[in-house]
Amino acid sequence: MIDNHAHLDLMKDSLENVISRAKNAGVAEFIVPGICGFPKKLDELIKYNEIKFCWGIYPKYAEIENIFEKELEKLNNSFVKIIAVGECGLDKRFGNIEKQIQLFQKQINLAINLDLPLIIHLVGHWQKAFDLLKKSKIKSGFVLHSWSGSIEMAKEFVKLGGTISLSAGALKSQEKLARIFKEIPNDKIIFETDCPDQKPDFISAEENEPANLPIIIEKILSYKV
Ligand SMILES: [Zn+2]
Repeated sequence: MIDNHAHLDLMKDSLENVISRAKNAGVAEFIVPGICGFPKKLDELIKYNEIKFCWGIYPKYAEIENIFEKELEKLNNSFVKIIAVGECGLDKRFGNIEKQIQLFQKQINLAINLDLPLIIHLVGHWQKAFDLLKKSKIKSGFVLHSWSGSIEMAKEFVKLGGTISLSAGALKSQEKLARIFKEIPNDKIIFETDCPDQKPDFISAEENEPANLPIIIEKILSYKV
């Protein structure tokens, strides 16, 4: 089982403990997104073959001047292999949508140039993001991580080549979950913890972690009718 969105670099507990508990639970691979270029703690993460890296800039950082160019230089000078560009996208909770759009577009172009998929973070601005992706003619695929939008928008993104990734956050709307499984091709639905965030209510530990993925998937699938 793969945790397709795990911020292992942001966990408080040691990587060794987190990975060992994940493996005991049957989670054998981890995709670690970048939020400001490469993931943090890269020297430590790189020791694990089970970890796959992404490089990306989260919309919150759109305000920082030349952040894309600065971090891109590090990517260009690194031997670390990345499997996707992200997480990047748009978020209505942060200001300056124009700067967010510019930063997102640069990362869409980078993914196209590198022929890599995108890992997309969207909170609101669904139509804007859809239009940017459509106009850019992205062919390398994209994952909409921790999806919280409407079924209608999800269907449109899937038609464009997207995959919907569900985290424990999706459990907030059980009716919507049931519709997702009915109306979205099930091979376009994947699962993630988004750890240490998106801690499900039924977990008492301080932070969410990949070891919780099997139980999160089980709960989510229980709403599939
Ligand atoms: Zn994330």
